[in-house]
Amino acid sequence: MMQNKKYLRRQNSDFALIFRGHNFSYEVQAVAKVFIPGIRFRLCEDGSIPEDCKDYILTEIRNSENPENSKILNLTIFYHNQELRHSREVPENSERDVLEYELCVLLYSGLQELTGYQPPWGMLTGIRPVRKVLQELEKGLTPEQACVNLQAKYFISDEKIRIALATALVQQPILPHDAKQIGFYIAIPFCPTRCSYCSFVSHSISTENARKLIPAYVRKLCEEIRMFGKIIRKFDLSVQSVYIGGGTPTAISAQQLGEIMQAVQDSVDLQNVREYTVEAGRADTITKEKLQVIYDMGASRISINPQTMQDAVLQAVGRCHTAQQVTDAFLLARETGFTDINMDLIAGLPADDCAGFADTLRKVLALSPDSITVHALTLKRSADLYHAGDVKNSEKFKIPEIPEIEQMLRLSAKMLPENSYRPYYLYRQKNTIGNLENIGYAKPCKENLYNILIMDETQTILGAGCGASNKIIQRDGDITRIMNYKFPYEYIHDFEKLMQKKAGIIRELEKL
Ligand code: SF4
Repeated sequence: MMQNKKYLRRQNSDFALIFRGHNFSYEVQAVAKVFIPGIRFRLCEDGSIPEDCKDYILTEIRNSENPENSKILNLTIFYHNQELRHSREVPENSERDVLEYELCVLLYSGLQELTGYQPPWGMLTGIRPVRKVLQELEKGLTPEQACVNLQAKYFISDEKIRIALATALVQQPILPHDAKQIGFYIAIPFCPTRCSYCSFVSHSISTENARKLIPAYVRKLCEEIRMFGKIIRKFDLSVQSVYIGGGTPTAISAQQLGEIMQAVQDSVDLQNVREYTVEAGRADTITKEKLQVIYDMGASRISINPQTMQDAVLQAVGRCHTAQQVTDAFLLARETGFTDINMDLIAGLPADDCAGFADTLRKVLALSPDSITVHALTLKRSADLYHAGDVKNSEKFKIPEIPEIEQMLRLSAKMLPENSYRPYYLYRQKNTIGNLENIGYAKPCKENLYNILIMDETQTILGAGCGASNKIIQRDGDITRIMNYKFPYEYIHDFEKLMQKKAGIIRELEKL
């Protein structure tokens, strides 16, 4: 019953997932979402089919009666009054991970038959595909063998496995490293306005209430950074990378930025820091004065993020600047002395299309930044665009179809290497349209260490500011996460309580 459709339509209210005889709910959902993007399934873990449910996927594991020493995996998909059924048999003593894998393969093949869709990443749904390649290489396999194994297991396309392998080979010499080497992240959660696709905890300073929080936030943040300075010295930690992100760090004044960077200078031995990034972010916040402060205070790398160089798209997503302002900010940064500049782009923004994205790539390449990060659009519920999607017939909110976004990524994977950029980090996020990926491309020796290590989860990261997380990695690979408060208001008002959490961080660092 081939539908000749690439995806099943999103039907949030009445698409059920029914589970019988197993509890692989998470894995089954992840595979189903590859074919039914953006959906919130109704989960029926008691195995019953709801009477009012129009469409469903039922997965079942049960013991076979004949022969007795096997298990039967069953799949039923009921969609638009049509039914698809498949079964397979596995040995009764199959391990849990084998059962989970075989059930996912059964579901994947069923959905593929139903839709005719071949997902580029196949059945691989995790956020770190490159880790899988590195793990195969660590077993002593050749790159070719690693690719063959992963493709056979997860049905990954040639195109995606090639880019995952290329990324792994760039990362290999950078990993692993000493447990006492750490990254230090500092959050400035303010932006000039909120972009419609944004799901970060960032406050638009276009409102008086948010603006009023900034001075107190900066004071507390400096206090926290200095407290971390003492911890760093006490445990003899070596800070390899500093990353000031957000939000948009340049949304605050040059003086406030200077105060924060002074606190970093007082707390971290910058002589030993290999990389110090300030994510300047939006062009409408970048001034000569701020760039000078960032440069003078020791940052070696900045990010100027257009997301797109199409004015109509910038307007559609609520970024109050033009492509020309991005170019001007970039040239100003070069003039100030920055020799390592990253630019972020997003494939799949509303009102964009393949021709617009190609034009964006050409314009960005003409500036020759040192690295370019290409994200596939992610739509989370906290983004305005997620809800605006229901506004009908509006070009402003029309997101390109998934094949078009795939084509945009294909274009960047072709044009960037042709211009000497190599993929150096790659990750996927939940709710990314089409289960697609984000890729950082860099010119040789301009790879961003912080990005690689945070994705690899093998380096301790200390985080200051609201929304920041502390991730402490023990020598045996165990990870402890300690989160800061999410919102600036809580961060400022419950700061003392937050400082008590530092005791937890200290306990974990003592084990290093
Ligand atoms: S500039 Fe970045 S952090 Fe700020 S609202 Fe836009 S996407 Fe979100």
